Amino acid sequence: MSEIAEEMRRRPDRGEVATYIPELARADRQAFGLAVIDADGNLAAAGDSETPFSVQSITKVFTLTLALGKIGDRLWQRVGREPSGNPFNSIVQLELEKGVPRNPFINAGAIAVTDAILSGHEPREALGEILRFLQFLAEDSTITIDERVAASEKRTGFRNVALANFMKSYGVLDNPVDYTLGVYFHHCAVAMSCRQLAMAGRFLAHSGRNPSTGLLVISPERARRINAIMLTCGHYDGSGDFAYRVGLPGKSGVGGGILAIAPGTASIAVWSPGLDAAGNSHLGRLALERLTKRMGWSIFGE
Ligand code: GLN
Repeated sequence: MSEIAEEMRRRPDRGEVATYIPELARADRQAFGLAVIDADGNLAAAGDSETPFSVQSITKVFTLTLALGKIGDRLWQRVGREPSGNPFNSIVQLELEKGVPRNPFINAGAIAVTDAILSGHEPREALGEILRFLQFLAEDSTITIDERVAASEKRTGFRNVALANFMKSYGVLDNPVDYTLGVYFHHCAVAMSCRQLAMAGRFLAHSGRNPSTGLLVISPERARRINAIMLTCGHYDGSGDFAYRVGLPGKSGVGGGILAIAPGTASIAVWSPGLDAAGNSHLGRLALERLTKRMGWSIFGE
């Protein structure tokens, strides 16, 4: 891992930092962090693995988990499970599919999932539930929301406003659009380090179980299915390439983070703020490609 971190630090090809959320443009393009936690709870880390960054769409894995816990398979009436083949913020398929997003990991899908979590609660309570879930999984109460990032996206998130209004017009959202978006923008703005993120992902690597307590967070069946959706949809229109190169379920965010799951083996988090054309961390993916190759961790074989 130190060798991988060293290579990533030296590489000139770093991708471009997201600027459409102005606050994210301040990220350090030179940063690189990597953390791996195995089934026995051993942590291996390299680079800036303790620096909190904006996890953005990676929270979509955890909001999906919560929404399935709350309403079960009824969730699939308002969001699909097919790869979109389109950018994360695309609106085109929404019209063809009557406001039902293709999957829970594109923005429209995650907004619909957030709406399901919000129903029956005040926005503040729903957000508290999401944040406490992350703190519980990571066993770390210091995880917080970066209010500046949330405010920055709220000011400039016109595309998400359009997606939400479009879904609302088809009756896919139950709550006032600004409430749902308020919760969505805030959970995207959670800040976590690679170590905290790898901790939070452990239940997906171990059939729904927290390996340190032995307690089930979700059923093995649900964990397996969430991993399947991460594999097929976790990197938007770059999901096929991520499976081809890395071969693990993964979820990216425009903050430059990726959570990847080696089922039965490890929870992995990587961070490098520069993105490729599909909005996924350029060096993050490359580092995971190096790691899975050396460890023989691809789910498709060595
Ligand atoms: N909050 C971001 C958005 O809605 C999340 C996108 C992402 O990380 N891909 O645009």
